[in-house]
Amino acid sequence: MNSKAEELGRSDQDLILREQLAEHGKSVRVTVFANLVNAAILSILFFDQAPLAMHVLWYAMFAYLSISRLHLAKRSRTADLPRSEMLKLKAGITFNAAGYAQMWGAGVACLLSVATSNQLMLLAIIGAGKMSTAVVSYRHIPEASRAWTIIMYVGLTTGLLYLGGIESYAAIALLTMFGSVLYINGANIFENFANQLTAGQEIQRSAETVRLLLNDFEEQASNWLFSVDADGCLIDVCERFAEAANRPREAMNGMNLISLIEDEEHRTQLADHIANGRSFRDMTVSIDVGGDQQWWTISARVAEEVSGAGSVAFRGVIEDITAQKNAEAKVSYMAHFDGLTDLPNRRLFTETLNRTIHRAQPDDDISLIFFDLDHFKAINDTLGHPIGDKLLQMISRRLESLAKPGDLLARIGGDEFALLLTGARAISQADIAEAIVDQIGKPFLVDDHNVVSSVSVGVAAWTSDMQDANQLLKYADLALYSAKGAGRNRVAFFEEGMDVAAEARRNLELDLRASLGRDEMRLHYQPLVDLKTQQKIGYEALLRWEHPERGVVMPDDFIAVAEETGMIVQLGEWVIRKALDDAASWDEKLTVAINLSPTQMRSASLVSTIVSALAHSGVDPGRLELEITESILMQDSEANIRTLHTLRDLGIRISLDDFGTGYSSLNYLRSFPFDKIKIDRCFVSEIDTREDCRAIIRSVISLAQNLGMTTTAEGVEREDQVDELRMEGCDQVQGFLYGKAEALEEYTDLRSNQAQIPKVETIYLPAAEVPIAADQQRKKA
Ligand code: C2E
Ligand code: CA
Ligand code: CA
Repeated sequence: MNSKAEELGRSDQDLILREQLAEHGKSVRVTVFANLVNAAILSILFFDQAPLAMHVLWYAMFAYLSISRLHLAKRSRTADLPRSEMLKLKAGITFNAAGYAQMWGAGVACLLSVATSNQLMLLAIIGAGKMSTAVVSYRHIPEASRAWTIIMYVGLTTGLLYLGGIESYAAIALLTMFGSVLYINGANIFENFANQLTAGQEIQRSAETVRLLLNDFEEQASNWLFSVDADGCLIDVCERFAEAANRPREAMNGMNLISLIEDEEHRTQLADHIANGRSFRDMTVSIDVGGDQQWWTISARVAEEVSGAGSVAFRGVIEDITAQKNAEAKVSYMAHFDGLTDLPNRRLFTETLNRTIHRAQPDDDISLIFFDLDHFKAINDTLGHPIGDKLLQMISRRLESLAKPGDLLARIGGDEFALLLTGARAISQADIAEAIVDQIGKPFLVDDHNVVSSVSVGVAAWTSDMQDANQLLKYADLALYSAKGAGRNRVAFFEEGMDVAAEARRNLELDLRASLGRDEMRLHYQPLVDLKTQQKIGYEALLRWEHPERGVVMPDDFIAVAEETGMIVQLGEWVIRKALDDAASWDEKLTVAINLSPTQMRSASLVSTIVSALAHSGVDPGRLELEITESILMQDSEANIRTLHTLRDLGIRISLDDFGTGYSSLNYLRSFPFDKIKIDRCFVSEIDTREDCRAIIRSVISLAQNLGMTTTAEGVEREDQVDELRMEGCDQVQGFLYGKAEALEEYTDLRSNQAQIPKVETIYLPAAEVPIAADQQRKKA
């Protein structure tokens, strides 16, 4: 019982206590009266066997107990007693019951010893009766009923023991059984009472919850109930429904539910369900509420009994999902439109393009224009992102003015846009593309900045032999790439062959990526010869790629790709390590020259790579020459010059390669104190035929001498070129006359620096086989 009480909440416990007292208070008057009568009867019957004083005292005690019991009962019937007061009352009732039990127990026990055999019967009835009736009269206060039973039992058994004899012992045994049954049943009676009370309470609470939920449902902003008759006319329209439909409630009663629905398809659907008496769920319909489009979902069940016209045929619920629909629309907008320019984004563009291509008929005209702002990054970097963003917005507005209904203009990347044209518009693709270049080329006034921009445009037209939209995208991209390659600010159209070249380049890229792992790279070495001593002073390392199918690929055919893809860093590291390891086995006077490209120069790991390769090979830094070109000084020059100084501080020599092929060559000579200038082959090859070439060579040599730099003439192929160079005061020569770049195995004299200068006749090349200077120059640029 206790544990049960512990399980209950405080309010449940209070409720039980209150009910215990109230119920107990109800029957008290009758029991008090019965007790007094019983006591009087007993007193009268045993009048002679006990002194008068005892009678008076005994009866006075009963009178006192009865008055206090009546008083307690009266207090118990008072409503809203505090808990502490109720607990006190319950204790009082228990004490009072104990008092009664003592009077009865002591009285009967005492009388047992003086009773005649007839009187014994009377005492037995009174004893047993008093014990059992207490369980009934105190059924709501189990503590009192227990106290009564125990005390009476103790009193009666004491009396019986005193009496002695076999009958008395039998009576004690009976009394024990009797008392136990009463004790246990008293507890059970109370537990039932408490359980009933709490169960009632539960039911009441659930009813309350349901009522609240229903209220809530009715009042909730997005849901309401409705009923319609067999014709679909509304019955008993609730306030919420009328409010949601923005119509007077009275006007809605009797109105057809279908008339609220806007679209024809759902009207027929709903009419069909109602006519056929079919339940339906979650039918989403659009409703016009005072000019506002709203979305509702309607679910309804067939009502249980339909009894004629005007009675409920369907009961259902309507939910207003307008907010949800609007949110969905917003999400969808955000997924398909660019937040900055409000133009369709790449996703919407590709989706639309795919659909257009998918549905296209063979003779449809579809064309795709891709365009990319030139040097937009520079605008962002110099004027800041907010200006860059504003410029993009203004550009978008200008582009929109060029687009016609049916065109799809989209922003597909940072500064990349696309325009999809169909039909007649596609036919005038060239004019539209030119108009784009024109419009974007006009200045923009962005926050007081006069910004001049330009755009490169690639155009591709769809043909029915294309596999899919991707192919068209690829072609437009290739055309754009070609417009950029041709100098930007222009339109380029896709041409046959662009894809073949792009494909070839892509394959080369893939092969190149795998080359190092497959050990396909080799270093060849070309000797550098001192003109005065005619001795070999070192070698330049030149890269060769031995591809199993392509054969030997020369650096001019793959270095540019390696540069653009960044693979040159890895490749260059391999060259540095390999060249220095090779040089470690040569004569200590021989130098090793390694070519560095701009991307390598920018790589943060360059210096550490060189230092570790020097340490690993044990080659003296003074034997290492690094060849760089003017382009290194044109890009990120400050950082590059710092790196060059670091390298030179290590004792490494720095050469300026291909001198004369860049722009303002002489300026670069002042930006860094080079150790050597390598005069490009294009001047050397025509030294004997062109006076300007000879003049350039002469001034470079004299400049270098003044600045304390060594000069090396590249591409020396004939003896007469050597004579001229010697006359001009050139220090070193390098060229086929002294040897082509060869694998190390071809050199037998690496332990000595004695140059085995070949005879002129053996290496003479006819002039026709030497690439002309102009061609060479274009290649390097
Ligand atoms: P470069 O540094 O100017 O190298 C000289 C190029 O001229 C070499 O071509 C060499 O074989 C060629 N050559 C030398 N003497 C003569 C001659 O008498 N007549 C003719 N017609 N040509 C001669 P190669 O080996 O094809 O290298 C081309 C370019 O590739 C190099 O020009 C260099 O810029 C680059 N390169 C080569 N190896 C590497 C490398 O390991 N790393 C980097 N970054 N670039 C490299
Ligand atoms: Ca070189
Ligand atoms: Ca060179």
